Amino acid sequence: MHVPVTQNDATPSRCSLFHQLVARHNCPMSDSFPLPDAPWPTLLPGWVWLCGAGPGDPGLLTLHALNALRQADVIVYDALVETAILDWARPEAEAIYAGKRGGKPSAKQRDISLRLVDLARAGKRVLRLKGGDPFVFGRGGEEAQTLVQHGVPIRIIPGISAGIGGLAYAGIPVTHRDVNQSVTFVTGHDQSGETPSSLDWGAISRGSQVIVIYMGIKHIAQISASLISAGRGSSEPVAVVTNATTGNQRVLETTLGTIEADIATHGIEPPAIICVGRSVLMRQVLDWQALAAGEAPRDIDPLGRGRPAESA
Ligand code: SAH
Repeated sequence: MHVPVTQNDATPSRCSLFHQLVARHNCPMSDSFPLPDAPWPTLLPGWVWLCGAGPGDPGLLTLHALNALRQADVIVYDALVETAILDWARPEAEAIYAGKRGGKPSAKQRDISLRLVDLARAGKRVLRLKGGDPFVFGRGGEEAQTLVQHGVPIRIIPGISAGIGGLAYAGIPVTHRDVNQSVTFVTGHDQSGETPSSLDWGAISRGSQVIVIYMGIKHIAQISASLISAGRGSSEPVAVVTNATTGNQRVLETTLGTIEADIATHGIEPPAIICVGRSVLMRQVLDWQALAAGEAPRDIDPLGRGRPAESA
């Protein structure tokens, strides 16, 4: 089964989907949007909070993240953080870009970590904002470790990772009872920019019905070939979700055997999440953005269960 790339919103802003949804629910968001009444932690001077900003849609921030934004003196943010989120910070807060994008000139990891140490030592209340979840392929662990080694107190605020939330926005459940009892999250390249040599594709292929690949576009030829030679069928469904949860979200539905050519044909570029496995078929019934736009489900029983979804 092969369906062309779909784009859910022609508006070029990364956060236009969010604004659309806000407008639809008639719930204007503003800087003064109050946090619910709860004992929110205080970001103290000299502390660094490492916080996930989610995959893009600002509405996917956690309340802890919003609480942090409301207090920080300095926000050090990554390339994949939706910058509209920074509008919710205090007006006097300083925003420092510390983006790292594969193949492009970017700040060195050690420099970023040491900058955080310096800011904390200068008595700032520091918010380190990272795309998705800070501990999922985001080097958050390394930054946190450096801070602890330098005696800087930290707090970790998880975020919604692109490999889960991004797929959900594409209508793909990362686990589904009829498809998988496990899921493997894989990175497509390591620190040197190459496919990690430590990855045992045979074991991943046998052990996990669904494989979610971060940073997989650059090495897709090698990755798809490795999976096929490890025993996965070349007709196995694959989805590539780019700019997930933003107004520029695009979804390519393809197969392991055709993914490399399709990525080239459609000019697909990072950031993208690649999902390999039959759960991709569920998009035919769960593409909720298409449904909301008035389209009919393509197939209400894409896994061919032939019985109600809720039955035991
Ligand atoms: N910590 C992040 C991942 C950082 S690694 C998280 O938990 O999501 C960066 C990779 O994440 C990108 O190359 C891409 O593979 C994926 N990614 C992050 N945001 C994305 C988005 N909005 N859409 C698609 N992929 C995304």
